[in-house]
Amino acid sequence: MTEPRVLISREQIAYRVAAIGADITRDFAGESIIFVGVLKGAAIFLSDLSRQVHLDASFDFIGVSSYGNRPSPAQELKNGWDSTGEVRLLKDVDQPMRGKNIILVEDILDTGLTLTFLKKMFLAHQPKALKIAALLDKPSRRKQPIKGDYIGFQIPDEFVVGYGLDYAERYRNLPDICVLPRENG
Ligand code: 5GP
Repeated sequence: MTEPRVLISREQIAYRVAAIGADITRDFAGESIIFVGVLKGAAIFLSDLSRQVHLDASFDFIGVSSYGNRPSPAQELKNGWDSTGEVRLLKDVDQPMRGKNIILVEDILDTGLTLTFLKKMFLAHQPKALKIAALLDKPSRRKQPIKGDYIGFQIPDEFVVGYGLDYAERYRNLPDICVLPRENG
């Protein structure tokens, strides 16, 4: 397999994450917020973003997975990523969300199925505010009309790894966002 190719460098990521952190700090001035990270992909983004937000804040995490039989990671890479359309909750948050300011932190907004499911679920808890922060956005892949409130970068329909994103659990620790060429599958 050829090496992943850098699409977005660590310097570009740091610059955008700081800008998003400044936006959140301004938008929620004087308020407390809860960062809710979607495991595992958003862990690194949440860790960096939260340190650029100068507000009273706490962390929580949620785990989701797609229903149905997924193809092998190699097949997914070769034929493109596709969700089955149904999302399953693997791990719920640990604290009450009612009346709180929630920032849902996700690695990538792709088909939109995951965040549409999570948004509906969180709104049922009647938070004071619910915002979506996604480091990456692939608008061309959208199946649900959902938009992020804080977006790092819009990218084309490529399979990316690094900065928390994996391929078969590998590459999450790459400091840059890299493209894994599909023909390698
Ligand atoms: P959705 O299609 O529901 O918007 O995104 C579901 C999940 O698919 C994302 O949270 C992410 O874990 C995964 N995903 C989508 N596109 C990519 C990609 O290019 N690379 C990796 N590693 N995961 C992706």
